[in-house]
Amino acid sequence: MTVELITIGAELLSGHTLNTNARYIGEQLALAGVALSRQISIPDDHDTIVAAIRESLGRADWVIVSGGLGPTNDDITKKAIARVFNRTLVFRDEILTLLKERYARLGREPGPYLDTQAVQPADAEFVPNELGTAVGILLNDGGKWLAAVPGVPREMRPMISTHIVPKIAAQVKTAIHSHTWSTTGWPESRLYAALELLIHDHPDISVAFLPSELGVKLRFSARGADAQVALERFAGLVRPRLEDALYAEHDTGLEEVVGQLLRDKQMTISAAESCTGGLLAKRLTDVPGASSYVVSGYVVYANRAKTELLGVDPLLIEKHGAVSEPVARAMAEGALARSHTDCSISVTGIAGPDGGTPEKPIGLVWLAIALKGAETTAREVRLMGNREMIRARAAQAGLNMLRLRLFGDQQ
Ligand code: AMP
Ligand code: MG
Repeated sequence: MTVELITIGAELLSGHTLNTNARYIGEQLALAGVALSRQISIPDDHDTIVAAIRESLGRADWVIVSGGLGPTNDDITKKAIARVFNRTLVFRDEILTLLKERYARLGREPGPYLDTQAVQPADAEFVPNELGTAVGILLNDGGKWLAAVPGVPREMRPMISTHIVPKIAAQVKTAIHSHTWSTTGWPESRLYAALELLIHDHPDISVAFLPSELGVKLRFSARGADAQVALERFAGLVRPRLEDALYAEHDTGLEEVVGQLLRDKQMTISAAESCTGGLLAKRLTDVPGASSYVVSGYVVYANRAKTELLGVDPLLIEKHGAVSEPVARAMAEGALARSHTDCSISVTGIAGPDGGTPEKPIGLVWLAIALKGAETTAREVRLMGNREMIRARAAQAGLNMLRLRLFGDQQ
């Protein structure tokens, strides 16, 4: 089964609109075990649309088209589809009745051009649009299928997920199964080195490395009747090789995992942040229900704030500098004491673009964790990237240190 997607709209090519429809449609198909084999974006030009649909129909069993179904002059997808399939455009009374009923129920007057929305290529099914007036088109010709949906994401989504994807999935013989795992702390190259031989020995499993500044997601996919079993077996081989870089055997953020650990251990937390300016506290509180463990976050950007809010000794800052192990430790211990939590995390570093020195380069970050009744631990990380990336990576490194410390203390 091959499926191709054509997204139509000049705004997608000019960079004015991000092609979120492609993302959604690809994702929905993948969840149903179908891989989108190609996707292109083209402008609202009749001949270009005709050529693109013809080309895709030459390769694929299904062609999905998004955009250009509205009533305005730049919405020409219907005409192009009629041309490709050599069909006339016909007025469908039942569509107009349906649209008029919808307006009547809302007690609203329909806008102009409602009748143009009731025009469809002959012998096509229409796909209802519960949230707008541009109905979709579904047609089958010589074993090939074409589905057209409007470009407006909010209207397109339910049409794709409730009408189109189930129809495609029902025709699939060997669905693709896949698992996504979440890792952090290891670059892509180190992960690949750890898995290279396994990947080589298992050509039936395809492995994708999906890096971001927060880590690398690993996606394992297989197709066929015993895909699930093969994936489980592969997972068993991969797991030990990832050591502590693996933080979840699904697609999630580190804040979720840390939040779960804190909840399980019934511990509260506070954060003391300098270079991340509250990002760590933001990540911790991104999780619904975080109020059961997050107590406070201190943004102590100026040295004076480190002293006034957290009791960091000014002499310590003077002697070692704000970005140093002793100050990171004192910040964590100050937050722990002042907010009466079970644990605390601190971060102080140089995010750049200014402020780096040979001894303390941009990207140098000190992290510390204080636990009630235990030794405070600290570590240094050296992070790459621009200011935004260093801050994001510093917060992630902090969450990861927290995960390893909490997890380690549990064992
Ligand atoms: P249309 O159905 O072509 O009239 O599209 C209406 C609106 O939907 C456009 O103005 C865009 O803002 C949005 N849109 C169209 N195609 C896409 C797409 N592929 N991804 C995200 N938004 C889109
Ligand atoms: Mg358009």
